Amino acid sequence: MHEFGHNLGLHHGGGDDMNFKPNFLSVMNYSFQTVGLLTPSGLAIFHNFDYSRRKLPTIDETGLFESAGISDPDGHLTL
Ligand SMILES: [Zn+2]
Repeated sequence: MHEFGHNLGLHHGGGDDMNFKPNFLSVMNYSFQTVGLLTPSGLAIFHNFDYSRRKLPTIDETGLFESAGISDPDGHLTL
């Protein structure tokens, strides 16, 4: 699925090649390439392979709020 995404013109960071972005929830991200996306319960790993469905807010490394997470409306966890 990851390699097919490359055939569609997708990159490791979405529109760029920056890999391991915690706010890029896609099988194109190496963090989720083999385990799939992490659901809020964490129980559906290996079953939730998908491409990114929306652009999540930019992460400000100098102003992180753990309780806000990555602000994903679907509540996915991240790495
Ligand atoms: Zn790749």
